[in-house]
Amino acid sequence: MSPKAAKFALPVLLVAPLYSWGFSYEAPAISPESESGYEEKPGWEAETFAVAAANPLATDAGYQVLKAGGNAIDAAIAVQMVLNLVEPQSSGIGGGAFLMHYDGSEVRAYDGRETAPQGVSGELFLEDGEPLEFNEAVASGLSVGVPGTLRMLGKAHAEHGELAWKELFTPAITLAEEGFAVSNRLHTSLESDEYLRRDPLASQFYYNDEGEPIAVGETLKNPALAEVFRRVAAQGSAAFYEGSVAEDIVERVQNHPERPGSLALEDINGYEALDREPLCTPWQQWEVCGFPPPSSGHLTVMQILGMLDQQSLLEAPLDNGAPSSTWLHQFLEAARLAFADRGRYIADPDFVEAPGGDWSLMLAPEYLEKRSELIGEMSMGDSAEPGNPGELAVSWASQPNQPEYGTSHISIVDEDGNAVSMTTTIEQAFGSRILSDGGTGLAGGFLLNNELTDFSFVPEVDGDPVANRVEPGKRPRSSMSPTLVFDQESGELVASLGSPGGAAIIHYTARTLVAMRDWGLNAQEALNLPHAITLGGEVYVEEDRFPEATLEALRERGHTVSERELTSGLQAIMRLDDGTLFGGADPRREGVVMGD
Ligand code: GLU
Repeated sequence: MSPKAAKFALPVLLVAPLYSWGFSYEAPAISPESESGYEEKPGWEAETFAVAAANPLATDAGYQVLKAGGNAIDAAIAVQMVLNLVEPQSSGIGGGAFLMHYDGSEVRAYDGRETAPQGVSGELFLEDGEPLEFNEAVASGLSVGVPGTLRMLGKAHAEHGELAWKELFTPAITLAEEGFAVSNRLHTSLESDEYLRRDPLASQFYYNDEGEPIAVGETLKNPALAEVFRRVAAQGSAAFYEGSVAEDIVERVQNHPERPGSLALEDINGYEALDREPLCTPWQQWEVCGFPPPSSGHLTVMQILGMLDQQSLLEAPLDNGAPSSTWLHQFLEAARLAFADRGRYIADPDFVEAPGGDWSLMLAPEYLEKRSELIGEMSMGDSAEPGNPGELAVSWASQPNQPEYGTSHISIVDEDGNAVSMTTTIEQAFGSRILSDGGTGLAGGFLLNNELTDFSFVPEVDGDPVANRVEPGKRPRSSMSPTLVFDQESGELVASLGSPGGAAIIHYTARTLVAMRDWGLNAQEALNLPHAITLGGEVYVEEDRFPEATLEALRERGHTVSERELTSGLQAIMRLDDGTLFGGADPRREGVVMGD
């Protein structure tokens, strides 16, 4: 299929009349894709506005909001609520999010990251002095942070919303009440999960008596979530943060049968979304704006890109449609160095001071030039040490690597040129595996996050504290990298992009940016390219996507390489030279782009 072929993602006629007084939602008839895995996508063009999300029903809700005159923030809210329903394993009101917003003149970074309850200590994930087994910590009450997504969206809407808050919940309420067809990805995620069946509400709701998950294409209604959405739609996010919904969350966390958590009503009542100064970094002709700490995303992405720009490459970076071994070597070595800094320095800025008092020192060209000189012909393997970007108030220990998973990304550009890049998460697939019905007593509900396992399990190493250790009220370090790109000269928006994928979000985002800027690929082609990642030790490359000769050449340079699934969920919208938009959705997941 040629790129730019399909204008609409969905085989349906969309009826979304343009009422000047608001917005009338029409549930589309969408049958789920037959297979998950790698599914070629055409890329989508649009004249003036576009929305990209991880599920066709969610994309469609955003599309209908934009079509009715809603702006990018309005659409993001509708998309998020539908995602909560149809892709419950990845994000929702029980989790957290980072949202980058451009209003035509200013870029803001809205922080809806979960916070640790007041009752925790640095020893949260230790038992008899030893770190808990990772998945046991995840599927427990200990891992649940105070959800931030709704407060953050409420704040962004109060500052920028166009349509009434209430209306933006209509798509999700309609689909929750009338039911939606279960997608292949939701089905297979339910099937393969080992822990969700342990939760009494979730096992009743998503599985039959034999423990088999609801089938692909079967209609699922979620009355509990519909009721919670109705209250939040009518009363605002306070309906979630105060009263019976918050009480139910607390009760479930505190009464977890294996490992109860300390999350208290006061923690939830007092949650605040923050408005942070985004980090905007010049990158040749582009300026890349991303999320500051507590995300490590932008700093690590831009360290890698900054180091790569110092490297010369004597051959084509692409070899038969995949990154060449030489380019990959440089990329992976840059990642090793960047991850060494990330592991040492980056954590919640309200608890941890930046090296030299300023995070952007980690991106200073002189610093990255010095760091990139450490990249040689052979791999440094697992020996990358952090650099010294600036003076330290505390001598930090490096955080040992831990697994990270789950999550969804939304990119939107509206008719007026406002843009959103929002990455949203409950951390692992199905989060803490605790389903809350919001105290409604109805079937279904929303999942609670396990974001606190993004903190370091160990508070110190050899007597030195880890910057990202657990502390009351603190936000765990993230890898989420919602990104807005601008043209330095004209100041015009160039792209909105991001991905799920845990720490590998950083590699996925960095590689996509290089493909868009340097390799002349459109938003779809850029995110199709095969992935390769390292957090500092072993290299993982996407299964069956690289020529054997490339892997051999990497091994000859000293990399330990193995193949595995690398399920990014990239979404990207780019503005073309003629002013129109072109969007791409990751072939590895169920996302689509829609626009006009
Ligand atoms: N919890 C992770 C983070 O905030 C994201 C998990 C994922 O994308 O899979 O970095």
